[in-house]
Amino acid sequence: MAYDPNNIFAKILRGEIPCSKVYEDEHVLAFNDINPQTAKHVLVIPKGAYVSFDDFSQDASEAEIAALMRATGQIARDLGVAETGYRTVSNTGEDALQEVPHFHLHIFAGQPLGRMIKPPHK
Ligand code: 5GP
Repeated sequence: MAYDPNNIFAKILRGEIPCSKVYEDEHVLAFNDINPQTAKHVLVIPKGAYVSFDDFSQDASEAEIAALMRATGQIARDLGVAETGYRTVSNTGEDALQEVPHFHLHIFAGQPLGRMIKPPHK
């Protein structure tokens, strides 16, 4: 899938749409989700143009991958949830209902999070 430069996170990265920023470095931007699913819900994105986890894991540089992982841990500590716990999620593609085609990690935190997945019972 080709990267769509008009996706909403690309617009946030270009400063065309505001965001509630919680972290930024050379390779990474993180901001509060506009429609939080938990008490604390942060999105961590690379600044590079990657569609999904699949894309990022294949084509991103070692520096970009390391930066995203390091930043995610740091953000969780800054949120004060490293001790109480949190969940990182990345939805990739159709089966995972990925909405925004720019790779992002969700950080869900600030409350008990329940089971990881509610099975779609057969
Ligand atoms: P996905 O389903 O792609 O994993 O998650 C996309 C997330 O982006 C959703 O949780 C949604 O609420 C969030 N989102 C969509 N548009 C915006 C926006 O304009 N600003 C922010 N901060 N979050 C957004």
